[in-house]
Amino acid sequence: MKVFKTVGLLQKKLMSIDKNRSIGFVPTMGALHKGHLSIVKKAKKENELVVVSVFVNPTQFDKADDLKSYPVTVDNDLKLLKEIHCDIVFIPSVEDVYPENVQSSNFDFDGLDKVMEGAFRDGHFDGVGTVVKRLFEIVEPTRAYFGEKDFQQLQVIKKMVKKDNIAVQIVPCEIYRENDGLAMSSRNTRLSEEQREEAPLIHQTLLNVKKLFSERDIKYLKKMVEDIFKSNDILELEYFEIANTSTLLSTNNKLPNINYRAFIAVFAGKVRLIDNIALN
Ligand code: AMP
Repeated sequence: MKVFKTVGLLQKKLMSIDKNRSIGFVPTMGALHKGHLSIVKKAKKENELVVVSVFVNPTQFDKADDLKSYPVTVDNDLKLLKEIHCDIVFIPSVEDVYPENVQSSNFDFDGLDKVMEGAFRDGHFDGVGTVVKRLFEIVEPTRAYFGEKDFQQLQVIKKMVKKDNIAVQIVPCEIYRENDGLAMSSRNTRLSEEQREEAPLIHQTLLNVKKLFSERDIKYLKKMVEDIFKSNDILELEYFEIANTSTLLSTNNKLPNINYRAFIAVFAGKVRLIDNIALN
């Protein structure tokens, strides 16, 4: 496994590689867990070479505190990636990724960025688009892997790739969960024991919504979820939406032949957790 800390050195290495070899790319913000590793393993199966980036992107955080408290565990990340025979790790500095201004570009994601995460995290998807586009330009991957845990992010990236004609195949990866159903997240390490015990309620609630989806109307399901979290002292609901899988627009009416997904964001103290599930 080779580790590169500058764009120049990484690109020198990539240029020395036969152009016909497929490159699988897994962008991450580090603090790696088994969910990340499952993606790297999938990328390894499907490509001749795998590049993983570890970069906590400042422009996708709307709150300075959230950025400051984001866990950083680079030594452990490298150990885990080495164990699963990752080929190349890219750990750039902020100056390397943003040589001029640490600032996002403005994207038109056809509204995909205006709802849910985009509505609650100002400028988040412009930040994501900016860093992913820059990383794609540096790595020039054949395939890039994104988790469905961040389903809205996945749709936004697909939109950017299509609109900007970027020659990369976007590969979605299933949500990887703890045994009790909690979606794995780097943020889970910041949960107290009590919060961690309560957190599986998020996935349990989504499963319940899925079970009831064909029988109940959406208003009923939304009220049910709101009530579940109102009566919980540890988890605070930020949003719960049932949305069209393609447009991400939320709805109160189910239409035939449309795929729906439920999306949720919950605070456990200062830790923000998100999850989602396909409903039909
Ligand atoms: P992050 O480091 O949180 O930016 O995540 C890097 C990539 O891993 C993103 O594409 C995430 O969607 C994905 N990811 C994070 N957690 C999970 C999980 N539990 N299951 C599947 N993918 C995940």
